[in-house]
Amino acid sequence: MNEKALQKINNYIALRTEISELSAKLGTLHKDKMACKKACSSCCMNFKVLPVEYFSMLNQLKENPPKEFRELDVEDDDCNFLIDHICQMYEARPIICRTHGLPLLFMNQEGDAWELSACPLNFKKFDDFHTENTYPQDTYNSKLFLINREFVKNHQNEKFGDFDMISLNRLVGDLRK
Ligand code: SF4
Repeated sequence: MNEKALQKINNYIALRTEISELSAKLGTLHKDKMACKKACSSCCMNFKVLPVEYFSMLNQLKENPPKEFRELDVEDDDCNFLIDHICQMYEARPIICRTHGLPLLFMNQEGDAWELSACPLNFKKFDDFHTENTYPQDTYNSKLFLINREFVKNHQNEKFGDFDMISLNRLVGDLRK
């Protein structure tokens, strides 16, 4: 991987750290309502992630391989790294898995109203949410998109378009290469 692509991986890691810190703060703020706990895996699935996130995770998992994983198809709905309801790559998990359970604020498809998504196990009523107590999904998705756009321009081993995404379950095959 060339220097510019590696720099974008570092930018991604910095963004992921910022998001993890915000998620922890929001988790504390909503701790009375959060039913999330170890072994609740209702949110887990074989997500697709942008290449900068995928290759960052691959690098991290090559250094610290997961002890266990499954061998599901890349198109399977279930995540290879969920064993007995426990994530086997928790430290390397993608951004989407770091915001599970929180109230997520985003603009609707028409671009004329805010929408809120939240786990019904955690939140029964959505009437007390505002920008200070929700996760600003569009802001962070935009930042991630811009980092990824520069990454794919500079990633020479495999070419991707700006909107291409890669299934988490491909990691198992790539870890063996
Ligand atoms: S990476 Fe971990 S947290 Fe994310 S879907 Fe897979 S098992 Fe769940």
